[in-house]
Amino acid sequence: MKEAPRPEHADDTRTALSSATIRRAFLDHVFHTQGKLPGHASQNDLYQALAHTVRDRLVQRWISTAEAYLGQPSRTVAYLSAEFLMGPHLGNNLVNLGIFDEVRAAMAALGLDLDQILAQEDEPGLGNGGLGRLAACFMDSLATLEIPALGYGIRYEYGIFQQTIIDGMQVEKTDTWLRNGNPWEIQRSEWAVQVRLGGHSEHYTDDRGHYRVRWVPAKTVVGVPFDSPILGYRVNTVNTLRLWRAEATEAFDFHTFNRGDYLGAVSKKVTSENLTKVLYPNDETQQGKELRLEQQYFFVACSLQDMLRLLAADGMPVTRFHEKFAVQLNDTHPAVGIAELMRLLVDEHDLPWDEAWDITRRAFAYTNHTLLPEALEQWPLPLFGRVLPRHLEIIFEINARFLDEVRIRFFGDESRLARLSLIDERGERHVRMANLACLGSHAINGVAELHSRLMREDVLKDIYAMWPEKFTSITNGVTPRRWLALSNPRLTRLVTQAIGDGWIADLDRLHALEPFAEDAGFRQEWQRARRENKLELVTLIRDATGVTVDPDSMFDVMVKRIHEYKRQHLAVLHIIALYHRIKSDPHAEIVPRTFLFAGKAAPGYHYAKLMIRFITSVADVVNRDPQVRDRLKVVFLPNFNVSYGQRIYPAADLAEQISLAGKEASGTGNMKFAMNGAINIGTMDGANIELREAVGADNFFPFGLTAPEVYALRADGYDPATYYHENAQLRAVIDLIHQGFFSRGDPVLFRPQFDEHLRNDPYLLMADFASYVDCQQHVSAAFSDTPRWQRMSVLSCARSGRFSSDRAIREYCERIWKVQAVPVRLLHRASGAPWHMEEMKERRG
Ligand SMILES: *Cc1c(COP(=O)(O)O)cnc(C)c1O
Repeated sequence: MKEAPRPEHADDTRTALSSATIRRAFLDHVFHTQGKLPGHASQNDLYQALAHTVRDRLVQRWISTAEAYLGQPSRTVAYLSAEFLMGPHLGNNLVNLGIFDEVRAAMAALGLDLDQILAQEDEPGLGNGGLGRLAACFMDSLATLEIPALGYGIRYEYGIFQQTIIDGMQVEKTDTWLRNGNPWEIQRSEWAVQVRLGGHSEHYTDDRGHYRVRWVPAKTVVGVPFDSPILGYRVNTVNTLRLWRAEATEAFDFHTFNRGDYLGAVSKKVTSENLTKVLYPNDETQQGKELRLEQQYFFVACSLQDMLRLLAADGMPVTRFHEKFAVQLNDTHPAVGIAELMRLLVDEHDLPWDEAWDITRRAFAYTNHTLLPEALEQWPLPLFGRVLPRHLEIIFEINARFLDEVRIRFFGDESRLARLSLIDERGERHVRMANLACLGSHAINGVAELHSRLMREDVLKDIYAMWPEKFTSITNGVTPRRWLALSNPRLTRLVTQAIGDGWIADLDRLHALEPFAEDAGFRQEWQRARRENKLELVTLIRDATGVTVDPDSMFDVMVKRIHEYKRQHLAVLHIIALYHRIKSDPHAEIVPRTFLFAGKAAPGYHYAKLMIRFITSVADVVNRDPQVRDRLKVVFLPNFNVSYGQRIYPAADLAEQISLAGKEASGTGNMKFAMNGAINIGTMDGANIELREAVGADNFFPFGLTAPEVYALRADGYDPATYYHENAQLRAVIDLIHQGFFSRGDPVLFRPQFDEHLRNDPYLLMADFASYVDCQQHVSAAFSDTPRWQRMSVLSCARSGRFSSDRAIREYCERIWKVQAVPVRLLHRASGAPWHMEEMKERRG
């Protein structure tokens, strides 16, 4: 075959975007990078080759971005997060580069299926759930809005565990996401830093008579950065996600080695590397584990040293740190960074305390993510002092100065002093990380209106009384690139045909879709697209679980971490109520439903694991019963992650957001569902309230107690048993469980759960049951009216624009970070001077 002469440059196999060039570049990588002839390439070889082909195109933009950021005056956002739940990179990069069709064509020309190649990627699951996913959506929006930003986190060797279900129970397996190598990272050993841990501090007077403190650590580990490119949508901006891996200072402890203790020498190396081995799989709970504190300090210390290096490279003194960096704390996990920056400025750069404190406060801002007391981080003082002796001293000093201020402001108010203190003095003494985060930050935000209000009135009310001006609310959002353009190509095509593709970068434009809700032809196409999504999910469910579900049934979906406050068990009570109705009256009119559950439970969270068992046990009975199995199906899909989310959100009809009001900070699953045309049923909790307001009361199913009603009910003395006695349907449901109907006659299995509920019912299931079941009746009626449901579905999507993470990031930029866009001009090797060695030498000086 003779190739046509090419107008492009010699290096275009690494940059050009045409289908033909991509095909050539891909084959080149199969040969030169994977070392295979195409005929012998494995699925992984094909994936790696395509990933490298795409990465080459990112690198050009990455370098162009670095050039554009050099010496520019805007601040840089440093987003500090212990979790980044990125999901697969390849598909997202194709969307953002705008070459999905070209790559599909290139693969097709070689007889390859792009979807199969995309499915080959082991997703980096470096997060638990919503919080980690938010960090990932924010990285996408920062790049899309051309904001100079760095994401800083931990390169866990094992991400969130893989969940399997055996005998109806969750069994965890390690997540070996790096086993095939990671084409999306570049190790930057030259920027490795040292991090100290443990030991003690020494106080002395230096040559100039200054009082100084020196930290003498027990051990030192090395932090090595691994950089991943984060490309914005249809822009040249490629920001960096910089994740740190812990390594031993020296591969061998030669002293021990020379004594002949080879294993002892190696074990020290292993201990250092344990630091970044595994992500703690707890969501919304805090355990005082030493390694966890070490992880937090490690990545924060690495990141701050890195920022100081960048500051120096820009020729700026440390006193201007806050002019160069806006440091955002994604929850309190990186809050120790406040003490660390103080240590760097005071101990290592010899700045006066007050000046250091001023710089620190101007740099940091804190996002609170939870109202659950068990999730608020507190470290036992002895543990904290053991790991970070110098930081504990600094925290004491910050606290002493702060409490002096409080004493004057709130004269004689001793209890307020105790509540505000960075140290919880009740019982065993603890360091309160939320108080530290608030104190060391100039801005504090909640993640939805209700959450921010409850934060001001409840968890952080004393801090609010001190500095009301620091508080703001920024409702979470999700990126429409991954959660609509990539995950729902059918709807994307339809929307784009109707209103153009401007919505992908400006989601408010979805409003233009509203009139189409009244267009019967459009609605039919909408329905067809969504049905095909459902058909794909049917296949996925069959392959993963062996259960066959009816694509024309209502897909009633609850996917999220398994948690008592999220109340998966309330959804199950509704299923049992429907089951009971059919069993009592076989001719009862029931709209066929497929109930889909997915989500991981923290391995040590007994009740959450029992909830999984409860779901699978009810599924067992319902799916086997010939009387109901054509009307109700219950599925638990194992190992919920971003990849599964991309297939599930677009295929749902109804989405369950049924947390007890006042417990869910925001929720982002609700937004993904709405964008994809699913209808949410939910409590007036978190962002559900704003979502309902946005999509319209007709397009959201609300039920249950509101947050104030929950408080009032508790204040009146809540008695769950009265609901049981007064509601025959609820009684029938609970009795079935108690009789062991769903546990093969074992009356004990689910006892702890439901005895507890009848006695205490901490999540008010009994109180919300009637309202929930009643609301589900309205859902069924609406679903039976197909044109009505389709209209709701179109409107739900059309009015979801507010929930783009672009809007959220714009608010952070304006209200907290004070940063501006820095557009990036694409550099070409052939045209751009920076590519030449001469220039490089010149720049190095
Ligand atoms: C969006 C998302 C979540 C958060 O879901 P919520 O319903 O807001 O709790 C958790 N896990 C994954 C994989 C997600 O994509």
